Amino acid sequence: MTDQNKEPSANGIRVVFVGPPGVGKGTQCRRISQYFGVPHLSTGDMLRATDPDSDFGKLVRDCIDDGGFVPDYVAMRMVIQRLRQPDCANGFILDGFPRTLPQAEMFDEHLAGQGMRLECVVYLTADQETLHQRLRRRFELEGRPDDSADAIQPRLELFTELTQPLVQHYAALGVLNTVPGIGPPDEVFDSLLDSLNTRR
Ligand code: ADP
Repeated sequence: MTDQNKEPSANGIRVVFVGPPGVGKGTQCRRISQYFGVPHLSTGDMLRATDPDSDFGKLVRDCIDDGGFVPDYVAMRMVIQRLRQPDCANGFILDGFPRTLPQAEMFDEHLAGQGMRLECVVYLTADQETLHQRLRRRFELEGRPDDSADAIQPRLELFTELTQPLVQHYAALGVLNTVPGIGPPDEVFDSLLDSLNTRR
C-alpha cells in the first residue's frame, strides 16, 4: 500500500538522489517531489531542454548524446541558478546532481555558504541486468540517443568511475541512505518515504 495520501511535510526537505542510469530516479523523484511539495530538479531534463539550435544546446548534446557528462562547472552553474528561484526556498529534490566528486564538493561549499546542508542523500540501487533491460526498454519507448545500445555500457561505466565515489563521500558525512530500486514503483516509493521520514 502506498502512503501517497499522507499530509505533505510543511517543513520542506533538501534531498539528493544518486543512482545509475535506468534505476528509476526520475520516476521516484517526481513522486517524492509531489509528496513533499518541493520542486524536482533534474539536470538531465534541464540539459535536454536547452535549445538544440543554440551554441550552448549543441555543446550540451555533443557531451551527452554518446553517454558522456557535461563539464562540472556547466552543471554546477545551472543548478545554482535554478536554486535561486523562489520555489526552491522550502527545499528541493535533486536528480542527477551532483554527479562527480568535484560537483559534490562545490555543492557542499555552496550550501554551507548559505547556512544549509543536505538532509539526506538517497542512493537508489539495482543490478546491472535490470539496468540494461530498463534502458533498452526506455530507448524503444522514448528514443533518447544516450539510451542507444552503444551508449548504455559507457554510461554505466562512467557511473561506476565518476559517480559512485559520491556514495563514500556522503556516507562519511552521515547523510547516506541506500534504497533498493528493484520491484514495483509503489513499493520502491514506500521504501523511499520510510527512509526519508526516519532521517528527518
Ligand atoms: P540518467 O540518470 O538516466 O543517466 P539523466 O536524465 O539524469 O539520465 O541525465 C542525462 C545526461 O545528462 C547524463 O548522461 C549526462 O550526460 C548529463 N548530465 C546530467 N546531469 C549531469 C551532471 N550533474 N553533470 C554532468 N552531466 C550531467
